[in-house]
Amino acid sequence: MAKLVLPKLDLRELSLPELTAHLAQLEEPAFRARQLYAWIHRKGARSFAEMSDLSKSLRVKLEEHCQLGSLTIDLKQESTDGTIKYRWRTADGQFIESVYMPSDRRKTLCVSTQVGCAMACAFCMTGTLGLKRHLTAGEICDQVYAVNADLRTRGGRVERPLTNLVFMGMGEPLHNFEQVKKSLELLESPEGCDFSHRHITVSTVGLVPMIERFGQETNVKLAISLNATTDEVRDRIMPVNKKWKIADLMEACRTFPMRQGRRITFEYVLLQGVNDSDEDAERLAKLVAGLPAKINLIPYNDNPGLGFLSVGDARAEEFRLILDKRNVFAAIRANRGRDIAAACGQLANVEKKAADPRASV
Ligand code: SAH
Repeated sequence: MAKLVLPKLDLRELSLPELTAHLAQLEEPAFRARQLYAWIHRKGARSFAEMSDLSKSLRVKLEEHCQLGSLTIDLKQESTDGTIKYRWRTADGQFIESVYMPSDRRKTLCVSTQVGCAMACAFCMTGTLGLKRHLTAGEICDQVYAVNADLRTRGGRVERPLTNLVFMGMGEPLHNFEQVKKSLELLESPEGCDFSHRHITVSTVGLVPMIERFGQETNVKLAISLNATTDEVRDRIMPVNKKWKIADLMEACRTFPMRQGRRITFEYVLLQGVNDSDEDAERLAKLVAGLPAKINLIPYNDNPGLGFLSVGDARAEEFRLILDKRNVFAAIRANRGRDIAAACGQLANVEKKAADPRASV
């Protein structure tokens, strides 16, 4: 009978206390766990071999008993605006994407939380894939570590160049809540990557019961993809709305535990003739009235075949002005990485399917 081979434990997914307990089983002291944790989460080591201050015998022992799950770069595309799209290959041969967006003040990474997505929003390319699987906390974190490592090779002297994270890549973060929560704990740990919760935003289609848990169990910022102002339209473009209506979603936002000075971001993709009327802008202002809210108006990024059209810049500005007049803070999101299909809602490994025969097997 074939011997059952269990996958080795991925050390990238363990918190410091878990790693300490695991090393204790291998008869290693707690300070070794701290060293190892710093290698994985602070310095972003890609293999045990490079952990130069661990003894050779420990590194061999680690290789034997555990693994360090790592993403590998499958394709890297750079936009004329400095945006970089990374396509990663996971250990089991899946493809996911992350998008790096530098500006003067911040270096932001947009990370994926699932391979594909189950939410099926009508305008979103990732939504056409369906859900292939959830990402592990280790895979979510490794997008950050691997980009930091790649940026370090560009000659910067900063150890961890990324300053901000947005969970707005492929997938619905609150549909993979446990792993997302774990990844936030790892990314925020002071012994590790030490991200401030003020610099991390998680975006959701609006899984209402999970928004409550998210508020209780994490401390990062919330963004809601609202995208419509009537249930009739939202039902049509975001199937999640059939289950949780706009009123339920807004109620969850009103009871969301808000930290001092924070606002909830509402993302609103402007779709020509669908959700871009003056009445929509008026209703949107009413929906968020009284909430510490910020509206992010997103110009639609064209996905051929999905049947939606973008509004022009002038119309986007008119829409913003209506909100402005109602004292609702709204900004039109700069469109980045369009030339490499790295913009919002365009992540779907499209080119992979076309170019790589393996992808169709
Ligand atoms: N599932 C999460 C995070 C991923 S989508 C969520 O829905 O919030 C990130 C954002 O991109 C969402 O606000 C979504 O509405 C938006 N988006 C999706 N497709 C888009 C497109 N083609 N053009 C512009 N924005 C899009």
